[in-house]
Amino acid sequence: VKIVIALGGNALLKRGEPATAQIQRRNARTAAEAIAGIAAPHELIVTHGNGPQIGLLALQNNAGQDTPYPLDVLGAETDGMIGYVLEQELINALGDRPVATLLTQIEVDADDPAFHSPTKFIGPGYDDSVEAQQIATARGWTLAMDGPRWRRVVASPEPRRILALPAIRELVGAGFVTICAGGGGIPVTRAPDGHYQGVECVVDKDYSSALLAAELGADCLLMLTDVAGVYTDFGTPQAQQIREASPDALASLHFPAGSMGPKVEAARRFAQGSNRRACIGKLDDVRSILEGSAGTSISTGVHKMTYDRGMLSG
Ligand code: ADP
Ligand code: MG
Repeated sequence: VKIVIALGGNALLKRGEPATAQIQRRNARTAAEAIAGIAAPHELIVTHGNGPQIGLLALQNNAGQDTPYPLDVLGAETDGMIGYVLEQELINALGDRPVATLLTQIEVDADDPAFHSPTKFIGPGYDDSVEAQQIATARGWTLAMDGPRWRRVVASPEPRRILALPAIRELVGAGFVTICAGGGGIPVTRAPDGHYQGVECVVDKDYSSALLAAELGADCLLMLTDVAGVYTDFGTPQAQQIREASPDALASLHFPAGSMGPKVEAARRFAQGSNRRACIGKLDDVRSILEGSAGTSISTGVHKMTYDRGMLSG
């Protein structure tokens, strides 16, 4: 069975944790051990987010120079940084299984409307609105409210094509646990003359992972995060975890952009296009999610939405 695993949240940095190398390594180890627990009979492709890390690199960026590195280059840096640590921890956890990390350019449309309305949160949050305003002015950044805090937002266009797809296929076919499409991939545009160049944005890793899973003909897309699944009435006493749903049933519910929204949409796209299962749940539950006894499972074969407590609705 071929599984694409998209790591977010807990995988590398929990909400509020300082982005030190030590903390990220510890979290990467936990993720690697969880993945190793289910690895044995499967072909595995691992993707990951980079929101906190790319934002941090952007902040470190203008030390001693006036021309900051653009976001595509910083994205490539985070792929190296996170990919290295994750690869090493996977090697340690897996023993004899080969692991490789691949820089993955992803083509986006230069005229994607997302370039005019930044939505993707990166880097740390700021409690103080004066401090946030100063940073926005000094750096020429756009900041928006992420819950109670200010954060930088950048454009997040649709991933259209994975340039490294043939290489990923080769690696997976040769038995490598393949880490790729880190941070949603390194965003590039293609000029009419066929030349590629980097572009300033951060592609959503859930959308890239769905595209990758579809292109690879994966049997399952697992989006592992820091909640047990997708909830209705999230954050209220009435919250209920959805166990199984069809892509259509989820389309009628609303989920916030920048967090659960893209996951649900990525799950719907993959499930609809492939007639296979997309699952959203907690990293620690990866085995039960795969077995179908935890998380939220989205597939076209589901006719009634079911909830965690066995309740049914139409
Ligand atoms: P990741 O780094 O894994 O992509 P995100 O923060 O983007 O994590 O998305 C997961 C978060 O989505 C959860 O931690 C939760 O706070 C939030 N969330 C918002 N709405 C919902 C919902 N309806 N059900 C579950 N989680 C939700
Ligand atoms: Mg996310």
